[in-house]
Amino acid sequence: MGLFGTGLRRICAVVAASTAADMSKQVRSALRQTTTVELRLDWLRSDAERGRFLEWLAKGQPWNATFLATCRRREGGGKFAGGVDRELYWLIQAREAGCQWCDLELETLRKLPGQSVREYPVPPRVLLSVHDFERTPDLPRTMNPPAHGGVDAVKIAAEARTIHDSVRLLRLARNSRSFVAVPMGDVGLPARILALREGSALAYAPVAEATAAGQVSLDEMKHLYRAHVLTRRTRVYGVVGEPVGHSLSPLMHNTGFVARHVDAVYLPFLVHELPDFLAAVPELGVRGFGVTHPHKQTILKYLQECDPLAAEIGAVNTVLVRRNGSLYGCNTDYLGVLRALEKKLRIKGGRVLIFGAGGAARAAAFALVRSGAAVAICARREKAARELARAFSGEAVPRSALSTQSFDAILNATPVGMHPHDGVSPLAPSELNCRLVMDLINRPQKTQLLKIAAQRGIATVPGVEMLLAQGFAQWGIWMARRAPEAPMRRAVLAALRAEENSRPR
Ligand code: NAP
Repeated sequence: MGLFGTGLRRICAVVAASTAADMSKQVRSALRQTTTVELRLDWLRSDAERGRFLEWLAKGQPWNATFLATCRRREGGGKFAGGVDRELYWLIQAREAGCQWCDLELETLRKLPGQSVREYPVPPRVLLSVHDFERTPDLPRTMNPPAHGGVDAVKIAAEARTIHDSVRLLRLARNSRSFVAVPMGDVGLPARILALREGSALAYAPVAEATAAGQVSLDEMKHLYRAHVLTRRTRVYGVVGEPVGHSLSPLMHNTGFVARHVDAVYLPFLVHELPDFLAAVPELGVRGFGVTHPHKQTILKYLQECDPLAAEIGAVNTVLVRRNGSLYGCNTDYLGVLRALEKKLRIKGGRVLIFGAGGAARAAAFALVRSGAAVAICARREKAARELARAFSGEAVPRSALSTQSFDAILNATPVGMHPHDGVSPLAPSELNCRLVMDLINRPQKTQLLKIAAQRGIATVPGVEMLLAQGFAQWGIWMARRAPEAPMRRAVLAALRAEENSRPR
């Protein structure tokens, strides 16, 4: 049994707002998800608000929850403008209001007589916190609470610049007792989610506004990543790219794992350099990963085995980590294009125009040619179009010819029309001489190009169909069985709908 209990109790909701009223609202919302709550008293905008909030907290007793009070001074990276004596004053008030724990920065402890908080009537249990907002410092092999000073547990929150940084912090969590590991920053996000399984006593997640970069919301920590049920046996998957923040893959794959009761988790890995991530694969227990921009080509040189078609395309978006640790790469983007199109088009014998000559255009072109279509490429740089066309012995079509030529299908493989440029179309109505238009863009679902096509009575296929189809194929490769397509599809479409509804119209 950990310091804060087991299961969900180890997910600590962070409550942080500038007014007592908002703090109280957040506490109520936090308690619907977990029973361990950090109260960021330093976020309250004045002493009056702090007093009001603690009065409210005291009145609500008993709460059947564990409250951890924090009044972090600016010196320690918090918002509290007062000195050490005022910080201690508010922590003492927090105890009066029923807080069982407090967070005390190392900077504060060092200023106390005898470097001990024992003499002060702060909450009975003390978490000593050490922050490094710049980097992950050199770490010892183990970290246990010091014998003196009245400290019950130690927390290290450190910016992870690399995956290796976050792995070092997780290692420390594995070797320590009464320890809280908080890898910070977007690169540290996966390790933040994995911290509990490595032995961290807590994982923090904000109820509302993030209080630090790379935080995962309470809702996502609990429902999307299920951080509290992950163990060393849990298989780890993820998407590797830069950026990965908007990826829908974690939602899609984790939904699949839950639907099929698979003990696995899918995480977004923000990776600057592939070797940094690849070195961490064995230690993190990664069994497979998706690869996205800008690593789809670079990954090839790190693979021990590659599917011949992916090698021919020159891009890999799916890697399977074999039991012996070797990496096998393949490409499901091409399958995604085919699955998305074949419902509405007979590909064999068809004539398809691809607009764009980048990575997605290349995968689509190879897939369609392999399936028996005649493929033409049109791009703003005619040279790029000619080079791609030459790679699969197809034709390049100049832009000026589009209004006079007709095709069975036209695919947009450029980012033109992607949110936030929703109102723009890469092609004019007069250039859409075809029976079907597919846009590879996912956001928005109905792009301006698809709207124009629909107005002209042309059948349309949104990019999300490709995203889903390539994701189902990935899931199948990793799990060696068919993906639960219906729940995965529902989750992704609902998320996109919610995103679109939340945008100002
Ligand atoms: P990429 O490698 O960067 O290629 C982009 C292509 O679009 C290049 O040919 C580029 O031309 C062209 N382009 C960019 N801006 C343009 C403009 N203003 N006018 C005309 N052409 C322009 O990107 P990618 O990976 O192929 O991705 C392309 C699109 O497909 C993106 O929207 C991406 O989100 C989408 N995609 C969707 C899925 C899915 O699952 N639905 C999968 C992969 C990609 P230059 O070379 O001249 O810049």
